[in-house]
Amino acid sequence: MNKKWTIEKIKEFVETNSESKLLTTEYHGFSQKLLLKCACGSKFEKTFTKFKNKHQRKCDVCQPPKESR
Ligand SMILES: [Zn+2]
Repeated sequence: MNKKWTIEKIKEFVETNSESKLLTTEYHGFSQKLLLKCACGSKFEKTFTKFKNKHQRKCDVCQPPKESR
């Protein structure tokens, strides 16, 4: 089954599954970077795929990107 994401559903997902807030008001597709506001107040950009599937749900300060080694 194809799940179609809309900006409303993404906003709901973001607020239900993280402490971040969604600032982007339009959703154009999986490759789009969404603008989010972390619980610490910092803004950060993340694609919804990364946010959802890779659990990157905070800014780089609160959740530093994993090093490759
Ligand atoms: Zn943060």
